[in-house]
Amino acid sequence: MKQMIIDFERDEEGDWVAILSCGHSRHVRHNPPWFNRPWVEKPRERARFIGSEMDCKKCEQEPV
Ligand SMILES: [Zn+2]
Repeated sequence: MKQMIIDFERDEEGDWVAILSCGHSRHVRHNPPWFNRPWVEKPRERARFIGSEMDCKKCEQEPV
């Protein structure tokens, strides 16, 4: 299911996660090739991806 990226944050281990409009989150570095990129370390680059869509596996596996 496509969901919009609304924010990014770091988890306890310092890995970047994308916060999706459905309330789920996805680790950025664990989703190659689309997200396994150095841009995630740069605030300006992250901002470009806010508002874009990505598949949310959790929504597909756990329908509300
Ligand atoms: Zn979701």
